[in-house]
Amino acid sequence: MRWSIVKPISEFPRVSLGHLPTPLEPLPRLSAELGGPEIWIKRDDCTGLATGGNKTRKLEFLMGQAGADGADTVVTFGALQSNHARQTAAAAARLGLHCVVFLVRKVTYTEPAYQTSGNLLLDDLLGARVEIADDEVALGERLESVRDELRTEGRTVYVIPPGGSNTVGALGYVNCALEIDTQCRELGIEPSAVVHASSSGGTQAGLVAGFAGLQSALSVQGINVTDKDATRIVALVHGLCRETCQTIEIGAVDEKQIRIDHDYLGPAYGIPTDAMREAVKLAATREGILLDPVYTGKAMAGLIGRIRAGVYRRGETVVFLHTGGSAGLFAYRDALTG
Ligand SMILES: *Cc1c(COP(=O)(O)O)cnc(C)c1O
Repeated sequence: MRWSIVKPISEFPRVSLGHLPTPLEPLPRLSAELGGPEIWIKRDDCTGLATGGNKTRKLEFLMGQAGADGADTVVTFGALQSNHARQTAAAAARLGLHCVVFLVRKVTYTEPAYQTSGNLLLDDLLGARVEIADDEVALGERLESVRDELRTEGRTVYVIPPGGSNTVGALGYVNCALEIDTQCRELGIEPSAVVHASSSGGTQAGLVAGFAGLQSALSVQGINVTDKDATRIVALVHGLCRETCQTIEIGAVDEKQIRIDHDYLGPAYGIPTDAMREAVKLAATREGILLDPVYTGKAMAGLIGRIRAGVYRRGETVVFLHTGGSAGLFAYRDALTG
């Protein structure tokens, strides 16, 4: 094994939540349609936890740490249609923990389903206490009063940041890099890049740190789906990646290795774009793969755009990391029909 990370991943507290390893499969019909590289898909939408997704890998380590800290309650944060909140609620249900999710109405997309369906419906079904705030100020106030309540009840709280993106959560994607590396060698493929949606940074930071630890040549290409400020998201991912490298005891990576394409965000986080619609429809009709409007649809739009621009060419292999989110499709009915 080429794993050269000094501190093995098995030394960190972890609980098993995902169906791992997730499949790594070819997408022959989509590849043929685009006429460029051979596209493979890493199915992290199939992690198995209440419709799956990338937060499951992070939660294996976050919940492991919560357990090590003796927590009986987890608190986390997200947008109204947060996939992270939904997977946290599911993990808490499975582990018998009390769960509070604070959701902020920060996405200006309005259709009735967005306010009630998709992930929000599932949070409720999974038994989480859902606290909805109109803005960050209201969130702060609500948080304070709930914190007092939990304290009065004598609960031990473990706080998980938005997206599960700290160094503990990023370990899930260090682990995913290991998994991809092993699978590629088993399958006899040598991809040049792995392309994925980047938002709170834990996925990309963990992957970059993991492949650096493996001394792999594979480049990690994030597609910005969140932040109009390109400099800020690069700095966020780089900072988290540096801390993750320290945690796994490898040398820091250079900022040049934080590759993020900012051309596919559109007007804002959670706002549909035509390229997203095209990507969601192509993946569905050519491969029977369900993407989502907020993350993977824009990430696939990025992969398609980069292939059309000749960045990835015939003869190459690229991996698309499917980070989940299809539960969100139901909150965007109007954007995807007609
Ligand atoms: C959270 C999320 C992402 C982004 O991952 P980060 O680690 O926050 O960058 C991508 N896709 C889906 C479906 C997500 O829910």
